[in-house]
Amino acid sequence: MAPFDLIIFGGTGDLALRKLLPALFHRYVDGQIVAGTRIFGLARDSQTDEAYRERVREALQKHLAFDMRAPSMLEPFLQLLSYRRIDLQAEDGWGELAAELADESRVRVFYLAVGPDLFGSVGAKLQAHGLTGANTRVVVEKPIGHDRASAAAINDALGQVFAESQIYRIDHYLGKETVQNLTALRFGNALFEPLWRAEHIDHVQITVAETVGLERRASYYDKSGALRDMVQNHMLQLLCLVAMEPPSSLAADAIRDEKLKVLHSLKPIADGATSHLTVRGQYRAGAVEGRPVPGYLEELGTNTSRTETFVALKAEVSNWRWAGVPFYLRTGKRLADRMSEIVLTFRKVPHSIFGDEPVAQNQLVIRLQPDEGVKLWIVNKIPGPGGLRLRRVPMDLSFAETFGGRQPEAYERLLMDVVRGNPMLFMRRDEVEAAWSWIDPILAAWQSSNESPKAYTAGSWGPSAAVALIERDGRTWHEDAV
Ligand code: NAP
Repeated sequence: MAPFDLIIFGGTGDLALRKLLPALFHRYVDGQIVAGTRIFGLARDSQTDEAYRERVREALQKHLAFDMRAPSMLEPFLQLLSYRRIDLQAEDGWGELAAELADESRVRVFYLAVGPDLFGSVGAKLQAHGLTGANTRVVVEKPIGHDRASAAAINDALGQVFAESQIYRIDHYLGKETVQNLTALRFGNALFEPLWRAEHIDHVQITVAETVGLERRASYYDKSGALRDMVQNHMLQLLCLVAMEPPSSLAADAIRDEKLKVLHSLKPIADGATSHLTVRGQYRAGAVEGRPVPGYLEELGTNTSRTETFVALKAEVSNWRWAGVPFYLRTGKRLADRMSEIVLTFRKVPHSIFGDEPVAQNQLVIRLQPDEGVKLWIVNKIPGPGGLRLRRVPMDLSFAETFGGRQPEAYERLLMDVVRGNPMLFMRRDEVEAAWSWIDPILAAWQSSNESPKAYTAGSWGPSAAVALIERDGRTWHEDAV
């Protein structure tokens, strides 16, 4: 890739140090980032380039695998880095930055690893200093708003400065290998697509389970909650990739047009329906991975918050392909295990020839983390004499075992796609706003209800109401057991 300039606003923050710079380092080691590339970290602190490199060196030592930490690997990468002091809300320093970035022929990426309240003022400053030319791209992170109106305001502010084709709204779930593989699995195999519809699929489950609590995000999280933080973006994007029609090509807009149609097809969960189609929970003290942990309110240091740390809901995609197929979504903090997966359960065989022997339904399990991979559960005869006994067994494709080597982090792929100018894995403005349009009525109904989130014990799988949500329909949440 030709040398480029990457300017990270928030270059000393958690996102930059824990995710972006390690990802860039890997791309450098693989030879994709070449000498002459410049990476600028920006924040309000005063510090020298050398002090910044030292800070990044420490972060890389902490976040990279042991065999990647040799100075011979780290040092040349660190030489690509510089630090510039800029307060995004003040006037100083912009002229100097503009002078350094004057070469319009180089690709120039501004990564806004700062809160969304600063997006508008950064855009205005970049425009005022002539830094928005055709080779400029801007990357923004979630949260893009806290409802549809605020998302539209952020999009308007960015849209006044940049063309839509210059704006890369990142959802790192879309950069995960398994998520990209969903497209290959569906559209590269003649086997699945004919079955990928209501006639053959009984229901779909999407789970994103975390074991962590608030970490350092308390003030942000308490204003957000699980529905905004996880469902509006990551989980609805996953749902779109599962449910969309085959796009005509891999062109970014062909895929995004199809995802948008899914979002528009989501049946609204109106006021009266929230109580039976959604469950929100909040964790109480318990034990996670054998360690006692405090409850959400204790972590927060208050006893008044009604913010949900868990959501389960039943969604419906109202179109010909999916009519009557429920999509069950659940996500939460302080759950029993850290894992994300999509499970498609196929319908029962229409007639069993096996007498009393139960015949399990086929399931396709797409695991996003940990151990990215795909499992297809099929029914087999248990070998040996003594009558015909059946058991379901997985056809297992673990990416790590099959493809070997290191699985790249989502940010590696996504950052390089920005430099390459490929927006396929990024969200278009209308997608973000359509997702909020579906979420807003749920939030409003929760707000106006007197009910508090249901309590669940840290280390469990959420409140019992979440189990009831799916069991009412004669189904159960997937457990990865034979
Ligand atoms: P953080 O650790 O608080 O870092 C914020 C960064 O922004 C720091 O470098 C800070 O440096 C800088 N900054 C703040 N105000 C500034 C100003 N007025 N002018 C210039 N620099 C300023 O936050 P983070 O976790 O990196 O997250 C950044 C954004 O990404 C947030 O919106 C977050 O929601 C989003 N995000 C983060 C993650 C993650 O994994 N961390 C994941 C997804 C999305 P100074 O204070 O020294 O200026």
